[in-house]
Amino acid sequence: MLVVMQAHASAEDIRRVCDKIESLGYRAHSIPGAERTAIGITGNKGEVEPGTLDEMPGVQEVIRVTKPYKLVSRDMKEDNTVVSFPGTDATFGGPGLAIVAGPCAIESREQAFAVAERVQRAGAQFFRGGAYKPRTSPYSFQGLEEEALKIMAAIRDQFGLKIVTEAIDSESLELVEEYADVVQIGARNMQNFSLLKRAGRGRKPVLLKRGMSATLEEFLMAAEYVMSEGNYNVILCERGVRTFADHTRNTLDLSLIPAVQRLSHLPIVVDPSHGTGKRNKVTPLSRAAVAVGADGLLIEVHCDPDKALSDGMQSLYPDQFDELMVQVRQIAPVVGRIVAGSGVGAISGASAR
Ligand code: PEP
Ligand code: MN
Repeated sequence: MLVVMQAHASAEDIRRVCDKIESLGYRAHSIPGAERTAIGITGNKGEVEPGTLDEMPGVQEVIRVTKPYKLVSRDMKEDNTVVSFPGTDATFGGPGLAIVAGPCAIESREQAFAVAERVQRAGAQFFRGGAYKPRTSPYSFQGLEEEALKIMAAIRDQFGLKIVTEAIDSESLELVEEYADVVQIGARNMQNFSLLKRAGRGRKPVLLKRGMSATLEEFLMAAEYVMSEGNYNVILCERGVRTFADHTRNTLDLSLIPAVQRLSHLPIVVDPSHGTGKRNKVTPLSRAAVAVGADGLLIEVHCDPDKALSDGMQSLYPDQFDELMVQVRQIAPVVGRIVAGSGVGAISGASAR
């Protein structure tokens, strides 16, 4: 159920409707839009009787939302959600593309700083790096944990990059929230409902990756879990799904982007690194992702991929990332986007190196 308030409804009207909803045992989610505020009603004890709210001052109409997802839906909020970061022009979902780049895992201070310096110079505004790695084998490198988070906090201080890093359970989530700017929930945890709810009770934006066999509806329902707990800053990320194709690690499903944008107001970025698993396919698929209308890219970069402790095969060399940025800067305006940030990639490009 969704209460649409009148354009001139006062803050007091909105508060009274929220109080009424809560007094009936539901949760009220007041989400302001460009024209008017909508109040989503969630809870799992059945439908609210619409008549109770219809007559309240400031209420325009009460709508039954028939889709299983409610808060993520465009029915709830017509205009796009823009996740922003105070003190910077970096956003997810604004006119500027969000470029998130960095190594798969933080391996050492030197390794991480070397990559950070290059991706910042090329124009990325977000730095990624795994501190807690969900690996298929328990014998593979599992991440430097809090030490990695400290390294990334130092990278933010030195380069002004915002930090995106994955939490794999509620224990790591606690620490990630402390150090990072965006909490990543990985593909393997997309349906870890207790972790989603825990991230929803936090205040840091959540970058939620699509599960490797998740349908569009399952993906949106996972985002709904986060939002249902009151955290409305959710960024979706397409990172490829499992198919019979074996020329790539996963099959990057770019058709998901316009499909999500039709149904949801949430920003969606594309990760062609995990989506293809092959370095030589990352740049072509990045071009395609920007052209299809993605709100940003998540790219793995390493200065010495042959020695990387994880995902070396799909990590770009810094020079290749420079070139990717040059190309993305050319494609972005065609779809009405810009690449924010002041990287020298904007001026000189890879050819100057
Ligand atoms: C990652 O971003 O490093 C990662 C593990 O991604 P995914 O969850 O998409 O496999
Ligand atoms: Mn990786």
